[in-house]
Amino acid sequence: MELIDTHCHIQSIGASKGERHTIELWNKAEGLSGDRAMANAKEQGVSKLICVGCDLDDSLMAIDFAALRDGCYASIGIHPHESNVFANNSALAEHFESLASKPKVVAVGECGLDYFYEHSPKDSQLKALRYQIEIAIKYELPLIFHVRQAFKDFWPVFDEYKGLRGVLHSFTDDEINLEKALSRNLYIGVNGISTFTKDKKQLQVYKAIPLSHLLLETDSPYLTPAPYRGTINEPMRVGVVADFLSNLRHEKRSDLAGVTTKNAVELFRI
Ligand SMILES: [Zn+2]
Repeated sequence: MELIDTHCHIQSIGASKGERHTIELWNKAEGLSGDRAMANAKEQGVSKLICVGCDLDDSLMAIDFAALRDGCYASIGIHPHESNVFANNSALAEHFESLASKPKVVAVGECGLDYFYEHSPKDSQLKALRYQIEIAIKYELPLIFHVRQAFKDFWPVFDEYKGLRGVLHSFTDDEINLEKALSRNLYIGVNGISTFTKDKKQLQVYKAIPLSHLLLETDSPYLTPAPYRGTINEPMRVGVVADFLSNLRHEKRSDLAGVTTKNAVELFRI
């Protein structure tokens, strides 16, 4: 059964620029290359994947990586952690916008607000978020949102705009924000966190997501699902998330795979 990893960062395997922590993690996966990760994914039935950018260089790498490979797409984004540099550099912002019309760019993000780490000041995060939403509208692209402990500020910004399509990636929030997301027709991205969380309320939330709005992702190299904790995550592991969720939600794996794949195809037009 075909699966899609809607969120991974394999464009930076072996890279010398881009997001430093991600590259360091990839370097721990001995012998792994971008092509190897793609081949591993295909072997496990992952037919398509989206390489998600976190800053300008990373987004450029995602575009280049996707351009050369079947089944591979790119999302261009400035992660909330990187928004301070971005918010104070208009040349960078202009360059970023020029990426939106490149081939195989299927989304804008990851963008959003992260008040858990707050690596960038809140006003810069808000500025970068608005900027990226406006690019998504202009180029008619869906958005990949990263929102952590910041929904109170996120929803008012989201609601300033009309007709936004997108996904709340790596959703770990509560039922109230799940309801708010669903009422705005957003998709909910679930990854390996679901397989190792001990939080019963969290598991309840994963059960409550309607299949019609569920997307699967790995966020690799991060968030390796159980029982593979301790190894570097790869897109091929999205099937492990599918297995876990089909058990948790008492859904046939083929149904869960089929519908989540259809959801990803519809949202990202891939
Ligand atoms: Zn990510």
